[in-house]
Amino acid sequence: IIENNARHMWHPMAHPAEMQAQPPRIITAGEGVEIVDIQGKKVLDAVGGLWNVNLGYSCEPVKKAIRDQLDELPYYSTFRGTTNSPLIELSYELAEWFQPDGLSRSFFTSGGSDSVETCLRLARQYHKINGQPERTKFVALKKGYHGTHFGGASVNGNQNFRRSYEPLLPGVIHLPAPFSYRNPFGTSDGAEIAAAIGRLFEDEIAFQGADTIAALIVEPVLGAGGVIVPHETFLPLMREICDRHGILLIADEVITAFGRTGAWTGSRLWGVKPDLMSTAKAITNGYFPFGAVMIADKVAEVFEGSKGAFGSIGHGYTYSGHPAGAAAALATLKETKRLNVADDAAARGEELIAGLRKLQDKHELIGDVRGKGLMCALELVSDRKRKSAASKDILQKVQDVAYDAGALVRTSGANVIMSPPLVITAGDVQTILTALDAGLTAAGA
Ligand code: PMP
Repeated sequence: IIENNARHMWHPMAHPAEMQAQPPRIITAGEGVEIVDIQGKKVLDAVGGLWNVNLGYSCEPVKKAIRDQLDELPYYSTFRGTTNSPLIELSYELAEWFQPDGLSRSFFTSGGSDSVETCLRLARQYHKINGQPERTKFVALKKGYHGTHFGGASVNGNQNFRRSYEPLLPGVIHLPAPFSYRNPFGTSDGAEIAAAIGRLFEDEIAFQGADTIAALIVEPVLGAGGVIVPHETFLPLMREICDRHGILLIADEVITAFGRTGAWTGSRLWGVKPDLMSTAKAITNGYFPFGAVMIADKVAEVFEGSKGAFGSIGHGYTYSGHPAGAAAALATLKETKRLNVADDAAARGEELIAGLRKLQDKHELIGDVRGKGLMCALELVSDRKRKSAASKDILQKVQDVAYDAGALVRTSGANVIMSPPLVITAGDVQTILTALDAGLTAAGA
């Protein structure tokens, strides 16, 4: 298996040779909140699959729903005049779920990148229907991550995901992230940073012309960019500026939508109603590739009342709503609600962050501790004063030793990221902290 991996398989977000030199961990089983690798080693999955296995690996109702649906109808498309019933039922459940966010219509996809792409397309189309075809540009945040389709790559805020694929969409404006640890504003005060980004946004709008801008896309808590939690004033301010200039607000909630931050959606965390929302990942507890774009009434009414050439949605996938994915999502929503996991995410998140802060007192390597609910990160530095990033080798060492000590964590840039299942216990939190302590001790030695 290891030889075939080296010979035949390329891995996402990795140099092909890297995966040949250092074989990946091959995961063969999952049980509860633990995974088992091909050597038979069992560890706590502090990555939660990839921010998505919110209910762990033994969620029987979701598995059963997929099995039953495969027996009844393994596939039918939602494309030009056909659909399937679990999907319709799901659109009703999602309208209930997202009712507090003001989102009542859904468009189904097969993952996060598809959902982002759909949001970007619908935003442009909305303005075309509204007689403003020149509103085509997107605004996004440096350190934002929005997937790997060309649209998503264009709004991504990290050059690593962009430079090999340019030219990308023209006219994307990147504002600084609301990042208090390191930013160009010379302050760590979150409210001041939010206000400064607001002024930059206004300045760009004046410079570019509001009537050229389609939408702002933001993650309510930035994930892959290093778990950046904005000040509570940030998203409301972005909403207010968008409203004043006729710019749509897209909330990319591929990570945050189903309780991970301790609130049911990231938008709700900040009291903001987006115009479009991308979701995926935890919508099926990671058991089936699936996503949904949620659409606000204001946007839906424009599409549904349109008469001209631009009204019809010229966009869709073979898997715009796989019935087994829909069945998985229905069961996941039910379990997610029944177990009330957003409250667990908030409680375990506080315990994890408190423990990480204690580790920061002990390990010089930790420059910053960040998190909201069970989205958490340590930023590792080689020099605390200069806040210079720790080396790749250090990050790898922390990850490897933590794994040997019982927990899989993820590294991204200089960050160690934790996004465990929301159903972890207080004891599991301690397991993560103990494993990290071992990793940091080894890397700091
Ligand atoms: N948006 C955000 C905020 C994400 O975190 C991700 C994936 N990590 C995506 C979009 C892309 O989702 P996918 O990998 O399912 O295509």
